[in-house]
Amino acid sequence: MVKDIVYLDSNATTCVDPEVVEAMLPFLTDHFHNPSSGYRAAKVVRQALDKARAQVAELIGAQPEEIVFTGCGTESNNMALESLSALRGEGRMVTSNIEHSAVLRVCESLEDRGFGQHYKVGVDEGGQLKMEMWEAALSKDKVAFASLMWANNETGIVQPVAEALESARAAGVPFHTDAIQAVGKTQVDVREVPVDFLSLSGHKLHAPKGVGALYVRSGLRLLPLLKGGGQEAGYRSGTENVAGIVGLGKAAELAKQYLEEGEQNVEALRNYLETRLFGGLEGLQVNGERGVRLGNTLHVSFKDCEAAGLLVLLDQAGVACSSGSACMTGKQRPSHVQVAMGFTEERAKSSLRLSLSRFTTAEEVERGADAIIATVKKVRSVQGGGVGPVVVYSNDQS
Ligand code: PLP
Repeated sequence: MVKDIVYLDSNATTCVDPEVVEAMLPFLTDHFHNPSSGYRAAKVVRQALDKARAQVAELIGAQPEEIVFTGCGTESNNMALESLSALRGEGRMVTSNIEHSAVLRVCESLEDRGFGQHYKVGVDEGGQLKMEMWEAALSKDKVAFASLMWANNETGIVQPVAEALESARAAGVPFHTDAIQAVGKTQVDVREVPVDFLSLSGHKLHAPKGVGALYVRSGLRLLPLLKGGGQEAGYRSGTENVAGIVGLGKAAELAKQYLEEGEQNVEALRNYLETRLFGGLEGLQVNGERGVRLGNTLHVSFKDCEAAGLLVLLDQAGVACSSGSACMTGKQRPSHVQVAMGFTEERAKSSLRLSLSRFTTAEEVERGADAIIATVKKVRSVQGGGVGPVVVYSNDQS
């Protein structure tokens, strides 16, 4: 990790766990062989893939043969939804209006190709799905599939997936969940919540970027996005990213241990950050229902303080975090998640997403909180609370 930077952006990506790096290294050096080759050296590599598949399955309560490795979470989402659409032929798509672009753009593209109407169910002010609207949407004729994220990447709000799944089951509609922000941060178990398809991504749980997985419930059909050599039981062709997959397997094993032992620590640190900020500043507002947030996420608005300027100054002060709103050509606009939650423009423009991981220390939280408090005061002291047009990166991508 870059030393001296206070990293509070773990929903964008996480640092790779040193134990994960250690597990991967032999597959970048000695065990470089193609797992599909016939000689003994390749068998070691095949066995490593098998082990990783079992480790990922174990984390989410699945069977190893239900896991398909992919190149990222975006690919997992695309594969699930494109496959569902191809198998169903036509129909409505029911999702929520706070989904990640890796779900929304797929459905928009399907709609453009004449597959059917994309219906996005709204959320309440606390950021949770409006269940009556979800049920109403599913009760319509010809619903092809439903997809609801497990937890939102901006606010960390956990969605009522079990209930949403139940309605989908009652309507006979296949159900996918984008659990990319949830897996490794909170308990996700497909025996307890028996979804049909579930997407996860390595770089959100201390594995490297460029590797993900799709859970496909046993007995269900899946059509491949990538056709070719027939790797991953024919579901995902392309010579495997062996080191990445081994890393994801190790990360899954470590995440399981962490969830069993230490989940509370990150939540306690997040709460400490929140308390410290509220102690040092007036005019703060937590966005999203406190009781249903991921333990690592704090989404907060600072009255009379534009996040765009705040982010630049925080970066200079050595704090890495995200704005809660998106920016196009230097002009701030609320993100689709904030629009869905009914935020005023002012609240949306003044919000930050602060996200921790099991590698975040109390010392980092203290330094981060102190820097945020000092910087907010500085921005507020500038007339209007803003520092002019600045470019910030959008949470649409993370
Ligand atoms: N879905 C959600 C909820 C995410 O937060 C992200 C990443 O930010 C993605 C999908 C895309 O995952 P990946 O970066 O692995 O493609």
